[in-house]
Amino acid sequence: MDDCLFCKIVNGSVSSEKVYEDDNVIAFCDIMPQAKEHYLFVSKQHTENINAMEEKSIGEIFRAIKTFTQNSDLENQGFRVVSNVNKHGGQTVFHTHFHLLGGEQLSRFGN
Ligand code: 5GP
Ligand code: ZN
Repeated sequence: MDDCLFCKIVNGSVSSEKVYEDDNVIAFCDIMPQAKEHYLFVSKQHTENINAMEEKSIGEIFRAIKTFTQNSDLENQGFRVVSNVNKHGGQTVFHTHFHLLGGEQLSRFGN
């Protein structure tokens, strides 16, 4: 997708602070962190959001998140994973991504 910001991050034409990479997934720091640690996990292959994503790719992302958290304090301290979808979900970048938030006590969420 020529016009997709996260595809550009995947192919390196837009820079990011990468924290994880495997064959199918990369993760990088969110540019406007909402917690002390705030990473975005994305598939290298473009889909708009989880409505369009195959289960296999969702599995690959969660495996990546698990590998990443297991190698940090996040596993024991705790964390949150969120994917915003379309208008009511507040999605702003239309390349499927999962927010991984942690590093401090998070507040309850809702509206
Ligand atoms: P959404 O609102 O779609 O759930 O999440 C999009 C996220 O992408 C936001 O948290 C936003 O801060 C982040 N973001 C937007 N533009 C960039 C960018 O150029 N680089 C990085 N690293 N994150 C970005
Ligand atoms: Zn994309």
